[in-house]
Amino acid sequence: MNCTEFLSKLTDYFDGQIDPALLTEVKAHLGTCHHCEVVVDTTRKTIDVYRGAVTYEFPEELSNRLRAAVMERCLASGKLPNIEVKASAKPAGQ
Ligand SMILES: [Zn+2]
Repeated sequence: MNCTEFLSKLTDYFDGQIDPALLTEVKAHLGTCHHCEVVVDTTRKTIDVYRGAVTYEFPEELSNRLRAAVMERCLASGKLPNIEVKASAKPAGQ
């Protein structure tokens, strides 16, 4: 099986409608072809996103940092007028 044949069987593969013998060939190709492995991986993630299945694992540390950054921005935007007034009210020179 080459890449073109593999890609033509891709939808069958994801639908689970694939012939067992073909599935063996598909898996064999996946084991040897990084390009098609990436295609399958990307397609699977895309399908998961569209199904609404939360299979994408967001690292907890990144999630916390992102939340902190968003909160920081919200607080900063709320305080922005005060900060601007203070900055412009600062006397120039000494
Ligand atoms: Zn391939």
